[in-house]
Amino acid sequence: MTFHPETRPRHLVLVLGDQLDADSAAFADFDPVQDAVWMAEASDESTRVWSTKPRIAIFLTAMRHFRVALRDRGWTVHYRLLGEGEEESLTARLAADVRRLRPRALVMVQAGEWHLARAFDETAASTGVPLHVKEDAHFLCTHDDFRRHAAGRKQLRMEFFYREMRQEHRVLMDGDEPAGGAWNFDAENRKSFGKDGPDTLRPPPRRFAPDAVTREVIALVNKKFTKHPGTLDAFDWPVTQADAELALQDFLKHRLAEFGRWQDAMWTNEPWLFHSRLSAAMNLKLLDPRRVIAAAEKAFRCGRAPLAAVEGFIRQILGWREYVRGIYWLHMPGYLERNALGARHALPDFYWTGETDMACLRDAIGQTMRYGYAHHIQRLMVTGLFALLWNAHPRRVHEWYLAVYVDAVEWVELPNTLGMSQYADGGVMASKPYIASGKYIQRMSNYCAGCRYDPAQRTGPKACPFTTFYWDFLLRHEAMLAKNPRTVMQARNAARLTPAQRREITDHADRLRAAIPTAT
Ligand SMILES: Cc1cc2nc3c(=O)[nH]c(=O)nc-3n(C[C@H](O)[C@H](O)[C@H](O)COP(=O)(O)OP(=O)(O)OC[C@H]3O[C@@H](n4cnc5c(N)ncnc54)[C@H](O)[C@@H]3O)c2cc1C
Ligand code: SF4
Repeated sequence: MTFHPETRPRHLVLVLGDQLDADSAAFADFDPVQDAVWMAEASDESTRVWSTKPRIAIFLTAMRHFRVALRDRGWTVHYRLLGEGEEESLTARLAADVRRLRPRALVMVQAGEWHLARAFDETAASTGVPLHVKEDAHFLCTHDDFRRHAAGRKQLRMEFFYREMRQEHRVLMDGDEPAGGAWNFDAENRKSFGKDGPDTLRPPPRRFAPDAVTREVIALVNKKFTKHPGTLDAFDWPVTQADAELALQDFLKHRLAEFGRWQDAMWTNEPWLFHSRLSAAMNLKLLDPRRVIAAAEKAFRCGRAPLAAVEGFIRQILGWREYVRGIYWLHMPGYLERNALGARHALPDFYWTGETDMACLRDAIGQTMRYGYAHHIQRLMVTGLFALLWNAHPRRVHEWYLAVYVDAVEWVELPNTLGMSQYADGGVMASKPYIASGKYIQRMSNYCAGCRYDPAQRTGPKACPFTTFYWDFLLRHEAMLAKNPRTVMQARNAARLTPAQRREITDHADRLRAAIPTAT
């Protein structure tokens, strides 16, 4: 016997755009005879922040593929297409469908974003139908686990959390000791390419050419979201579970072994280097992090990748990814409002186009608009660093990061942006602000060689804006930096400046700010 769509469902299982896992807790007791699935596309999810076309497209096409996969199992899926009927918000669509379908209960996995979790609670309450929210088993650390980790600690640090996770989940452990006798192999990682650049013979990452479903979505996004930034000409992301697995295999075979060494390096027109490109697949829940971690550890145990690379990679997923989620849920909703440095400017307009004469920003933003992707150091030490030095309001910076990347979901984006990159949480995420002059970018990339500015100069016509704003930042935050042992040396450098030098830096920074257009 199969479920008849007109029958009143026992459970209506609600699936959000980043919950595309048929083995999730929401389906634990799914009975195709009595239950049905509900999914909806809603334009407010693309306009709440001014999302790029790649970001809008990846969610829509991955959702549509998931719908096909569920229907292939013979399950009933009530799916609301974008533009179908009146333009309604996600929750308005849900309320209308709940009234129409009259399920006995709603079931869902915890939403990944605080505002959505609240909105779904409220919508369910307004319909009078009980909502059963299940723990998201995709993650290795539950909210309660993280709260227990945080309890009684004055200051949280990822490194200690990560060690606990390694021990608890028996990852890269030899008995009670970490594999290789150390928790961290950073000394062997994080090199720059030098003058020669990356090996040009390595195979490019595997592409996933758009199929009919994706092509339809691309046409829809180009039509409906014409004015949104970014392009879809190069869209090639994995958008099904099977393709996500192929992307993982491709990374393990061709890039994992070199991942650690080049983790922080950047190179013009080289968007991927040795990164995995797996964040979107994991965040959409097409790929289980346990599977990724186990496969990477196996590559080390079988001698296919060195420990330094594998440990560095696993730390990102078992450590950072779980840690930032814990921070997000521990501190929301107040976290969104934090602005510890009192920053206040709008972002420069070029953040939406990449049209700037600063070569590093042009490259990082250009690829962001083309692929919806930039790797971690480009996000932290190019776009993020510039926004921090520019004195951009953290809310505006957050809105940008949430809008532009294919992997952007608030639980992971917000702590990275507001905490790690902008220091707006005053030290919850990072023990110091990540500040540097243009010389850091020069050391880690070839950007400066093709730029009209000089990273060694802080004032004058060739002065690198990163370097000018870096010194300006030191002057504006001298007292705060002097109190932190990790930045005291930088504060001392500022203290050595003469009054005339200080004036020169501030004047140059003010002129530069006035010359770069910003949205009001
Ligand atoms: C300002 C800023 C904003 C960011 N916004 C996002 C975001 O919206 N979504 C997102 O998934 N990541 C975000 N990150 C973290 C990181 O930059 C991306 O996860 C990474 O660049 C994705 O590319 P990749 O899959 O090739 O990663 P790799 O370099 O191959 O790393 C492997 C995996 O580790 C995880 N990871 C690595 N670093 C982090 C981190 N700092 N926090 C959480 N997970 C991490 C990701 O799942 C990633 O797929 C942000 C970082 C910064 C500095
Ligand atoms: S000189 Fe400055 S602006 Fe130009 S690429 Fe280097 S860091 Fe970027």
